[in-house]
Amino acid sequence: MTGSNKGSAGLTALVGQPLGSPTLDGVTTVGVLALQGDVREHLAALSDCGVRAVPVRRPIELAAVDALVLPGGESTTMSRLLETFELLEPVRARIADGMPTYGSCAGMILLAREVMGGRADQRQLGGLDVVVRRNAFGRQVDSFETDLSLVGLAGGPVHAVFIRAPWVESVGPDVEVLATVPRQPGAGAAEGRIVAVRQGMVLATAFHPELTGDGRVHRLFCDLVRGGDRALNTATG
Ligand code: GLN
Repeated sequence: MTGSNKGSAGLTALVGQPLGSPTLDGVTTVGVLALQGDVREHLAALSDCGVRAVPVRRPIELAAVDALVLPGGESTTMSRLLETFELLEPVRARIADGMPTYGSCAGMILLAREVMGGRADQRQLGGLDVVVRRNAFGRQVDSFETDLSLVGLAGGPVHAVFIRAPWVESVGPDVEVLATVPRQPGAGAAEGRIVAVRQGMVLATAFHPELTGDGRVHRLFCDLVRGGDRALNTATG
């Protein structure tokens, strides 16, 4: 290195920046894994939080983000595409390195340590010491809706939409449970099930806040990205 030339701190520096730090121009960049699923909805919800929201399809794009969202969709398909696009190992490595990551529905499945009812060749990204049950809300009732309170989220319950969603069967000691399905008519076996969790910088919901126009869960995630895990710790006090 021949001294520093701040004026030329361009693309190379952007891609090579330390993991988890804001991008060079000071604007936090949050990627959405854009191989399959409801990518557009997440990009819109993130933009509303004032971060730069970008699709991620290639390792070089992953290297340029501070945080990542794994959208809803089909976890088996996303798993296969992660391998095809040579993103499986890079995403795993970033998560293991502490990159803030949020998974909704299929994204939650990808983050889980173990999947019940998954396909044998389905691959996991890790990050969450939980066991999830895929399509737990039942095949005959493909979607289920409820209002639930989420730890750390001010402003009352969030309307949660579950679409062929998983629930969390069990959590490890470092996992914080953020929401469960409340008692209500029609909840059936879903009652009391864990549907939102956090472990360090990894957040996951079995439901889809990106589909309901309530930006609070995305704002919570963006606070986590900007403020480290202080965001949720102080909120839960
Ligand atoms: N059932 C899907 C899966 O197994 C998840 C559904 C969703 O993301 N809405 O991946």
